[in-house]
Amino acid sequence: MNRFVFADAIACIGCRSCEIACVRSHNQETYPERTDFRPRIHVYRNADMFAPLLCRQCEDAPCVASCPTGALSRKNDMIHLRDEDCIGCRNCILACPSGVIDMSDGGDNSKPHAYKCDLCASRTGPEAQACVKACPTEALHLMDDARLAALIRKRRRASVTGAPGPSRRVRGREFLERCGPRQDPPKLPAEVRKTNFQEIYIDLSKRRVEDQGKRCLQCSDHPICEWTCPLHNAIPGWIKLAREGRIIEAAELSHQTSSLPEICGRVCPQNRLCEGSCTLNHHPGAVTIGMIEQYVTDTALAMGWRPDVSAVRPMGRRVAIIGAGPAGLGCADILARNGVEAHVFDRNPEIGGLLTFGIPPFKLDKGVLERRREIFTQMGITFHLNCEVGRDISLKDLANDYDAVFLGVGTYEPITSGVANEDAPGVLKALPYLAANTRHVMGLREDPRAPYVSMEGKRVVVIGGGDTAMDCLLTAVRQGASSAICAYRRDEANMPGSKKEVKNAREEGAEFQFNVQPLEFELGTNGEIAGLKLIRTEMGQVDRGGRRVAKPVAGSEFTLPVDVIITAFGFKPHAMPWLEECGVRINSKGLIVTNAMTYPGQTTNPLMFGGGDAIRGADLVVTALDDGRKAALNIIRVLEEAPAPTNAN
Ligand code: FAD
Ligand code: SF4
Repeated sequence: MNRFVFADAIACIGCRSCEIACVRSHNQETYPERTDFRPRIHVYRNADMFAPLLCRQCEDAPCVASCPTGALSRKNDMIHLRDEDCIGCRNCILACPSGVIDMSDGGDNSKPHAYKCDLCASRTGPEAQACVKACPTEALHLMDDARLAALIRKRRRASVTGAPGPSRRVRGREFLERCGPRQDPPKLPAEVRKTNFQEIYIDLSKRRVEDQGKRCLQCSDHPICEWTCPLHNAIPGWIKLAREGRIIEAAELSHQTSSLPEICGRVCPQNRLCEGSCTLNHHPGAVTIGMIEQYVTDTALAMGWRPDVSAVRPMGRRVAIIGAGPAGLGCADILARNGVEAHVFDRNPEIGGLLTFGIPPFKLDKGVLERRREIFTQMGITFHLNCEVGRDISLKDLANDYDAVFLGVGTYEPITSGVANEDAPGVLKALPYLAANTRHVMGLREDPRAPYVSMEGKRVVVIGGGDTAMDCLLTAVRQGASSAICAYRRDEANMPGSKKEVKNAREEGAEFQFNVQPLEFELGTNGEIAGLKLIRTEMGQVDRGGRRVAKPVAGSEFTLPVDVIITAFGFKPHAMPWLEECGVRINSKGLIVTNAMTYPGQTTNPLMFGGGDAIRGADLVVTALDDGRKAALNIIRVLEEAPAPTNAN
């Protein structure tokens, strides 16, 4: 008897819950590593229509044989589609014995079209098929022989006569119409915020959270936003609790997967992560997930709620964590919750790493980190601040004194451009400039290696197009720069910085020069910086990283008069010769080597783990946090295997 899952493109709203359910069902109901996300069902988007495609992959693959242009092929137990070769002849629809092939614009020709589906053979019960169960609009259902025959007849007739397909069903649309428009989080007016370093976004009101929370469709138990969040946060779960006013329960749930939810809610590039994948992002605008996440924890903490570790039983083990950035804090949090004594060492006077001494206060108020330090301390985590490993204490000493070590040391070497006069007075590097300003705002002692510089009355140009460049631009505006210009070599569409930061900068009067590349930092008579010589560029081919290359346009050189240039070209790992004494290897890029041993995150010293920017290169807060949390679980595994405390040497 023919049995297969039928996908109805008309009822599909593109939530991709079926993909998630499929992958989890083939991975013992857990999430696989990102590279192993291979759903057998695939939701394709074409304008405002979505089409879930699911292939049973017949032994002889008649669809492949029927394709006149070779757009369909069979490789590695999958059917592949090359969109650019598809001419829309519909031969494959006629050839498919199951009637499951439908015309849709895949859009992403690098992904396999469909994987062989086994109809969740190992599952039983009326809703055995994971994708069918997960679909919120009943766009998927298990097909029987009679329905199949009717469908094939209908599709064939439609293909041959050109008659319209099945009449539009409204279920999917009704589902979407339940929600109103997205309301972005409220901001301070630009004229007010450019005069101080207060957070740009104002606290959400309870009413706004409830209104926006009600927009969440609760697509399924494990929706696409949960998968896209690197921490796999239970987003619909805590949104539902928050909109019902059950803030403490929401905070408890939020803390099950995150150590710093109120911080990720503030600084994650949500448009690329959870909100970017929200089903409503294709329709009236994504749910404001980040702001609700921030609201839940900020409110719960203000109500006096604290993570409860009273039931934790000490394991009798101690772990040293080097670096109090998000990677180190994530690691310490999980260790403490599992009864391991966590000691965090950091060379800075406050915890947070780049959260404190990188991301400016107008994006993340520094009081948030202070509050977290108090919470972590109450949980039993010990901080050894102003202590630099390799200078104040050796790695070997830590290895001798602790059962294991976690390395969350970040990447601090600025990437240089090689442009002439890059070291001239008046040319600043982004991170020391931002860190010195934050110390100034926090009232901390100045670091003589990175003195505070004010941009008051100066013409400032920031070179770079990422979030660090935007942070410099907005900092210069707040310091009273007479002009603040961002110079970026590609066009706006290819700029890596988040769109909301660009919008904020424009609102505050910053200017943008796109498609310009620095040629020379021109000096004045006293050797100080006086001008920035640029050449215009045009966009060329797409490079291996998927972005279009900027090509200089001959004869288009011009000079901008400047007082200060800030370079924001990114970061690479700083030298850490002290790693060698304990056999921790680094790769050719200077990143700490992990995953070469038994456990993910384990370095070439089995009792030392790594995570965050130091192992993956400059990335994000949320990915560093995730690395730290996962490493902690693996450290615990290693400690449980070790019969007695041992040295890490
Ligand atoms: P870090 O945060 O760098 O922490 C490493 C810690 O290790 C530091 O505290 C350092 O002092 C300490 N350390 C290093 N060596 C030693 C030693 N030898 N002894 C003792 N301590 C040591 N990401 C986002 O998601 N959103 C943003 O908006 C965002 N904005 C950014 C803005 C700027 C200006 C920058 C520079 C980065 C930004 N990022 C942002 C990236 C994000 O901050 C990092 O990816 C993240 O902080 C990495 O975390 P980590 O724990 O690996 O390293
Ligand atoms: Fe979204 Fe970041 Fe929060 Fe995950 S941690 S839900 S990606 S804001």
